[in-house]
Amino acid sequence: MTSLDLTPLDTLGRWTGPRVEGDLPGPCSAEYLTRQQQRESNARSYPRRLPIAIAEASGSLVRDVDGNVFIDFLAGAGVLSLGHNHPELVAAVTAQLGVLTHGLDFPTPAKDAFVEAQLSMLAPHLRDRMKIHFCGPTGANAVDAAIKLCKTATGRGEIVSFQGGFHGSSHAAMALTGLVSQKRPVANGVPGVHFFPYSYCARCPLGLTPDSCTTNCVEYLERALTDGNGGVPLPAAVIMEMVQGEGGIIPGRREFVQRIRALTRDLGIPLVVDEVQTGCGRTGTWFAFEDYGIDPDVIVASKALSGIGAPVAIIMYDEKLDTWAPGAHTGTFRGNQLAFAAGVEAIRIIRRDDVLGNVARRGEQIAERLSTLRDEPWVAEVRGRGLMWGIEFADPLDGRPAGPLAARVQAGALRRGLIVEVGGRDDCVVRLMPPLNVTAETVETACTILLDAVTEAVRAAVEAQLEAQLEDPLEA
Ligand code: PMP
Repeated sequence: MTSLDLTPLDTLGRWTGPRVEGDLPGPCSAEYLTRQQQRESNARSYPRRLPIAIAEASGSLVRDVDGNVFIDFLAGAGVLSLGHNHPELVAAVTAQLGVLTHGLDFPTPAKDAFVEAQLSMLAPHLRDRMKIHFCGPTGANAVDAAIKLCKTATGRGEIVSFQGGFHGSSHAAMALTGLVSQKRPVANGVPGVHFFPYSYCARCPLGLTPDSCTTNCVEYLERALTDGNGGVPLPAAVIMEMVQGEGGIIPGRREFVQRIRALTRDLGIPLVVDEVQTGCGRTGTWFAFEDYGIDPDVIVASKALSGIGAPVAIIMYDEKLDTWAPGAHTGTFRGNQLAFAAGVEAIRIIRRDDVLGNVARRGEQIAERLSTLRDEPWVAEVRGRGLMWGIEFADPLDGRPAGPLAARVQAGALRRGLIVEVGGRDDCVVRLMPPLNVTAETVETACTILLDAVTEAVRAAVEAQLEAQLEDPLEA
């Protein structure tokens, strides 16, 4: 067990929920944040919107340096699938610490067990033909590896990616990412990337309504890739997320995903599925592609592989693509034995505790609790899969993404003791990514906090809009 017990129970053992006293940041957090601002890069991101310094954490809870306790529905950006410091993962890492910590890409018992465990999570027909490569320890590095592999295997140079997608911040992964604000200031990006519309039906990229839609987004891709004048040479790969995470929790439409699989298979284009965020149980199946009934050629996985935040990243790919020469994708940190030991234990716990069943049940609970939000005027859509949920805010007058409102909801939730992230267009989506073993009680408390924060922020937005209309009726 960890020494830390943050369980907010009173003396009678009743759940008391999170505790936040005074303004945020508290005085101690403010000191850390000031020092961070002085010393660290201007590119720091999370603490700008979530202004706390974290002292310790356990399960779904974190305590800041001022003693405030928060429910954490960010969970290390989806890394902490079993929550902070799961005692059995801590034990597994601790046991491995004294044995071997770093192994480059030598075979070791810990790595062997990790590979075995990972392959065991794939359906038999995939398991038998997938090879695994250990990448540098980030999702972005694994994305780079996947693209390099497909380019090598096909001898082609173009890549198809999707608008709204996020694949990382390295130079190559960023080139595959939709986020223009990150790319704009960096000249000479990796060439040969072509963006196509994703099935983002709440904001249809083709401007269609549900009545007029026949999944035209995928048809557009089909036509572009089969038209001799389409402008895009046959690509080395199509890369996609099953649920766009950073893009605002946008589950790909079933027909969209299945037609892309059929198209890429017909044209001989490797399909790379980026499961960095969706993988390891987040959407209710081990990998999100399973739920779509497709088989990818390359799977990219990272975040939750160890379950405890020990970095590790892999690609698993069809052995037909295994064309790399020795040393084609090296990296010093590809042998994190602590991550391997934790990852094996995480899979054992996930099976033993039916954690994927919990993902389904808690997902339904969130859907049910958030269903009332659909009637709120500034809520454009509530959507999700498993334990990956998003609430999209939009101006009811013109439909524009309401990023500042999402920011207010995020701040309001934090003040009440809930950590959530934002994402999507103009950061207009509040995102929930609790640990996969989160309890019903924690979900209940978190949803109550979130609903309060939304109600407060929406009321303020409605009032502000009314005031603006009164001041300038022509403008409204
Ligand atoms: N792919 C996806 C789908 C992601 O969500 C992320 C990170 N949010 C990445 C790749 C990049 O992972 P990393 O930050 O570990 O480089």
